[in-house]
Amino acid sequence: MSQLNNTLKILNLKDKNIIFYNNYLKELKIKGKRSLVFEGYLSYTPKYCMHCGCIFDENIVKHGYKLSKLTIPKVSNLNSYLYLYKQRYKCRHCNHTFSCNTSEVELGCYISNSTKHAIALDATKKISEKDIAVNNNVSHSTVNRIIDSYKSHIKLFKNYLPENMCFDEFKSVKSAVGLMSFNFCNADTGEIIDIVEDRRLYSLTKYFSRYSRDARLNVKNIIIDMYTPYIVLIKAMFPNANIITDKFHTVQLINRALNKTRINLMNKDKLHYNKLKRYWKLLLRDRDSLNHFKFQKYTCLEHFMTEVDIVDYLLDLDIYLKESYWFYQHVRQSIKLKNIDKFDSIIDAQHYNLSSYMLTAQKTLIEHRKYIHNAINSNLSNGKIEGINNLIKVIKRISFGYRSFLHFKARILLISGLINPTYKSI
Ligand SMILES: [Zn+2]
Repeated sequence: MSQLNNTLKILNLKDKNIIFYNNYLKELKIKGKRSLVFEGYLSYTPKYCMHCGCIFDENIVKHGYKLSKLTIPKVSNLNSYLYLYKQRYKCRHCNHTFSCNTSEVELGCYISNSTKHAIALDATKKISEKDIAVNNNVSHSTVNRIIDSYKSHIKLFKNYLPENMCFDEFKSVKSAVGLMSFNFCNADTGEIIDIVEDRRLYSLTKYFSRYSRDARLNVKNIIIDMYTPYIVLIKAMFPNANIITDKFHTVQLINRALNKTRINLMNKDKLHYNKLKRYWKLLLRDRDSLNHFKFQKYTCLEHFMTEVDIVDYLLDLDIYLKESYWFYQHVRQSIKLKNIDKFDSIIDAQHYNLSSYMLTAQKTLIEHRKYIHNAINSNLSNGKIEGINNLIKVIKRISFGYRSFLHFKARILLISGLINPTYKSI
């Protein structure tokens, strides 16, 4: 008896009506793989007929066994099955037969509940769904179905939103409405709040109107990148919120503009093409971090030079590059030193020789001035949500893409821990 109990424990079976035979463990080849087969039977006296509901009496009689081949979690890394002979009963009141049920498996299903739970737990790890299927000896579609069952699991607290939030977007699945999907998180804890399929203004306004007005008024700071519809959205839906454009994105904006200026020059000036191409990183680096005393020989350049010399050499090639470079360095520095006056004086000054790319960037900076000031004054950043976006990219890569947005969302929420993978019947 104790051996039986131990076997039940090892297989994580809770149903005491399952009795194993004397020689209950066999090794068979199933689907071409060495597998362990546990054999037992399930028997108890039912309280009533499953069909007509008649209370158990002498007219409900035993009627043989029915074999169910159940998939259970692996034992010793071998595919394992429970061959369960279920007691059948015949009811003479209604002339129907029925068999005993067990809590280990859903009615009409051959995959045990503990296997399903193991699949849900595996779905929280960064592994592909195909691997989960192989690990648990089930088909890919079973894994799909179990992950899908968590689609509706996310609970939205419509009466609460955190004080500080980050907004961002990520490239979504092909079938999603709109190319980009929207996600937002708590800026302090980094916890995802929700993921919305479409990031366009109309659908986001519709989405956020589901939250109560009090919840929306509670939001104090929202960190965004430079996507203008977010600003319109925040002004309409979160009247108390400060808009903060992320510092990283501000720097990235001018960084790209400078890089485009360099490439443009590079393509025109074939003589210095190599130098402009090879030393691009030095141009983008913070001027203070460049080495200005160590002379050495650099490829493509004739004389011994320092890093600062190289940059100055490149800048002397073109006036547009030069002025754009200094604009870039000064803006970067003022943000780094949190100097709002300096920042304002740079972006407001007339620069006559800025490249067209940098001029556009300057206009954008002027447009977002207030929000960049907020960013300089606050310590909040979009770092947390960029981390989440990285995770999303990883999830996409390990699974070689997703077709359904809701499925993708369920997986993201499972991996990020927002959905607790307790077993849920499907
Ligand atoms: Zn009956």
